Amino acid sequence: MDMKIEDPAIESSMHDMKERLLSRIFLSVLGVGFIFSVVNFINEWVLGSVQMTYAVIMFYSILLIMHAFRRKIHFEIRAYTIIFILFGTGIVSGLTYGMVGSSMLFYVGAAYVAMLLLSKRETIYWMAMTLFIYLVIYVFWVSGILTYEFSVMEYAVSETTLISRMVAFIFFVGLLIFSQWMVNEFLVDKMNDLKQTHDELRLSDKQLIEQYNEILNNREEIKLKEEQYRSIVENTEDLIYAVTPEKTLITANSSFSAFMNMDQKELIGTSLDKLKGLVTLIDENDRNVDYVLEKKVPIQFVQRIEKPVGRQIYHTDITPVMHVDGSFTMMLIKHHNVTELVHKDEQIEQLAYFDQLTGLVNRYHFEAIISEKINDTSHQFGIIYFDLDHFKKINDTIGHFAGDYLLKQVAEMLQAVLPEEAILARLGGDEFAVLIDEASEGHSLTRVLEDVADTVVKTARKPVNIDGVHYYISASAGVVVYPIHGSSHDELMKNVDTAMYKAKNDGKNKWIFFNAEIKDETDQSILLEAHLRHAFEYDEMYVDYQPLVSGEDEHVRGFEALMRWNSNYFGPVSPAVFIPVLEQTGMIVEFGEWILKEAMNKIHELASVSDQSYVVSVNVSLLQLKQERFATNVKRIMDEWGVNPASVELEITESILADDVDLIINVLSELKQFGIRIALDDFGTGYSSLSYLRKFPLDTLKIDKSFSEGIGQQQKQIELIGSIIQMAHKIGLEVVAEGIEEPEQVAYLKRHHCDYFQGYYFHKPLNDKDLLEVVKTG
Ligand code: C2E
Ligand code: CA
Ligand code: CA
Repeated sequence: MDMKIEDPAIESSMHDMKERLLSRIFLSVLGVGFIFSVVNFINEWVLGSVQMTYAVIMFYSILLIMHAFRRKIHFEIRAYTIIFILFGTGIVSGLTYGMVGSSMLFYVGAAYVAMLLLSKRETIYWMAMTLFIYLVIYVFWVSGILTYEFSVMEYAVSETTLISRMVAFIFFVGLLIFSQWMVNEFLVDKMNDLKQTHDELRLSDKQLIEQYNEILNNREEIKLKEEQYRSIVENTEDLIYAVTPEKTLITANSSFSAFMNMDQKELIGTSLDKLKGLVTLIDENDRNVDYVLEKKVPIQFVQRIEKPVGRQIYHTDITPVMHVDGSFTMMLIKHHNVTELVHKDEQIEQLAYFDQLTGLVNRYHFEAIISEKINDTSHQFGIIYFDLDHFKKINDTIGHFAGDYLLKQVAEMLQAVLPEEAILARLGGDEFAVLIDEASEGHSLTRVLEDVADTVVKTARKPVNIDGVHYYISASAGVVVYPIHGSSHDELMKNVDTAMYKAKNDGKNKWIFFNAEIKDETDQSILLEAHLRHAFEYDEMYVDYQPLVSGEDEHVRGFEALMRWNSNYFGPVSPAVFIPVLEQTGMIVEFGEWILKEAMNKIHELASVSDQSYVVSVNVSLLQLKQERFATNVKRIMDEWGVNPASVELEITESILADDVDLIINVLSELKQFGIRIALDDFGTGYSSLSYLRKFPLDTLKIDKSFSEGIGQQQKQIELIGSIIQMAHKIGLEVVAEGIEEPEQVAYLKRHHCDYFQGYYFHKPLNDKDLLEVVKTG
């Protein structure tokens, strides 16, 4: 059992086993020794000498005491004690009785125990000792030094000796078997232990291999990741570097080294403080680095620096890297150049909020400003909204490039004269708006708005020079005040638009403050428009015919067709009210064609009831005249009804002649060629002179009602009518006097050879039935 095993676990288990063995040997030696002593005592007592019994009792008493204190006595001492006692018993037995046979058993027993509990060397030593003592005692006996007190024979043959020997024999055999069993048990135990350890080892071996493989894989992965990171960090234009808490660079990417104009190797180990002064980026960053060092929180901020090439904007990221234990490992710093991005943003903002042509605030932005003002402030502000009169016409004539140039010029001119705080916006096309904040001016807002509106209209009137040609335009503007004329952007813009349209309809080139009346007008016209759209559907339209009588004999020469609307909703509506609505909405084209057809129908009808040929005149609006193929259209309708062109007259107003002279002359000439007559209506309300009228192919001049009204009151007026008639005749025009209500008017006009009269004095506009009546009676 002398094994050199260094493992303390195995050593302790060996010791454990020896301890167990020792205590069992102890107990068996004790137990068997006790029985042996008893048997031996009986034997000796029978024989009459108890010398050996004393020795044996003494020995086993020692054993007993030692067993009681076994925990306090060293293992070796206890082992040696057992061996000595066994050995001693053998000697005592040999010395006393010369019992070579049985004492031999004790010696062998001692040697065996020595072998079990102690080393091999010890065993040999004890065996040798046994042999030696055995020989000595044998020699003593043979030489007669030792003699028996009682007959050996007697002892040898005594029954108790026999029993005593048998007990000793059983004792040793038992000891032998028992100890062998112990050893076996121990070995099996150890084998199992070993097996388990082996299994465990094998298992952990497998795990180790697995772990190793895993580590290998991880290493691959980590390497891959590291390469990826490296390539990302190296290939980015961002400046990336890491510093220790002492602000020494531990790593830096190539962008950073290029930026610093330093070698990557040169950079590493350098203190940030040393890099200070080289580039402003580092200088300005320093305060933030210290902040992160102190607070241990990541921060992001924007740095605007003057790099060698112009202004650069960086988005900087400083991230502290902390150890698990909370200590500071390093700081990662990243500078991302966002200069272009910011510029793009600014461009986008420019696109989104400013008009590209003029650079003025655009509609979207203007809306936002107004909404913001409404939300933010309780004070008043004003909006002047205007568009350029006739811009479309100019644009069509001079082309879009020049048109754009003109808009730009106007915008510049306005910008130059407007108060600095005024916000000028281009809302689209030729529409502009100015926002005036009350807070920006000392005077009353109304006053400021009036002044600015005046300035706008005056400025727009200034000629714009394009390629040496001066173009004259004008502007019509509407003005509103928040919150008087609206509490929301939409309401304000709707009302300012209404005011602007009012300015346009009132002759353009002016500005108008929005007021409730304008609103009512618009509201009303919207309502009228809605009902007019269904007028034909509900059969609300019809025509009255007002006769024109001859100045010579007061015979009916013809009729003027007058449009009538008997609305189911409003009742009869005057043409003075609904005709402007039709004109504004463009519906006049449709209604105009309708009355033309009605008139042709009437001419046709009259021809069938009367031999006389009448001239029927129909009022025509500018919009109708401007329709493409207007003349041919009239001709077509005329032909449809088989009407003689000479009995058709079209009435146009003076203002039409002022619009687009060439176009109007063309259309009128075309109509003229078809044989249609042309009358100039409401003469005297405009400013055209008779000589101007010469350019136009006219047949009739209708002197406005307002002139006839003056007859009998103002001498000058009367004289004027006389000369008008005279001059009209000179240029070959027939003259009709409108609105004749009094006999004096008739008398006077007759004297001045007025050709025809039209007025209530003779006939009011007639319905179909009355018209037939008039035709029949002549
Ligand atoms: P207008 O062309 O000057 O038509 C003559 C207007 O004077 C008619 O008014 C007629 O009823 C009115 N009138 C005739 N004699 C007298 C009179 O002695 N005293 C007074 N106070 N008034 C007289 P009405 O029918 O109300 O038409 C008004 C205007 O509506 C017309 O003026 C004309 O400009 C326009 N209009 C009427 N029908 C049409 C149409 O079919 N097409 C177009 N474009 N305009 C039309
Ligand atoms: Ca008329
Ligand atoms: Ca008229």
